[in-house]
Order: sequence, then C-alpha cells, then structure tokens
Amino acid sequence: MQVEPSSEPMPRAVRDQAYPIEAFNPILRSLISWGLVERVEMENGSHHWELTTAAQKRLDDLTPARKRASATLAYLDHWCSSCRRQRLTHLVDGRYLCQACEPSKDL
Ligand SMILES: [Zn+2]
Repeated sequence: MQVEPSSEPMPRAVRDQAYPIEAFNPILRSLISWGLVERVEMENGSHHWELTTAAQKRLDDLTPARKRASATLAYLDHWCSSCRRQRLTHLVDGRYLCQACEPSKDL
C-alpha cells in the first residue's frame, strides 16, 4: 500500500533545509570569490567559516525589521491560535501566530 506524501500530518516548514546542491555550490563559491566569508582557524586545530564584518553589517541593513521572523520557522498548515484563520504562521513562545496577531517587538 502506497502512502501519499500529501497525507503527512507534520507541519510543513517553508524554509527547506535540503538545498539543491546545484544551487548551493555556486552561491558558496560566490561568497568565497567575493571575499564575503573567511575561514577562521581555531587553536585546537579545527576551523569554522564566518561572514566578514562587512557582510554581516550589510545583512543587518537589508533585514532591519525581519530579524525575528527570520529566526523562526514559518508554517503554512497551521491555524493561528489567536484569530483561528489558516494562514502563514510562526511559532512564537509555543503558539502558532499569524503575522497580524504576532505581538509587536517594537513596543
Ligand atoms: Zn491570527
């Protein structure tokens, strides 16, 4: 018996972690060739990659009002627990809330 993928009951995250490699690799190569990332060697012999300070500042400039939204996953298949409408929601403090019902962070 075949199981339909669409019957999957789990919420579907808009942000997909499975980046297609044919899109991912050119993006990463561009970051390196434009000097936007730098390899940082650690004292224990390991390393990690960091966005350069200029790149991080530019990201801040580009996303001033969306810091919170970008830090949380967005769900398409949930009802807003405040207005009960099915629309794009974010998980905020354990509740699924649509953008209109999300508490403003500017207050
Ligand atoms: Zn709502």
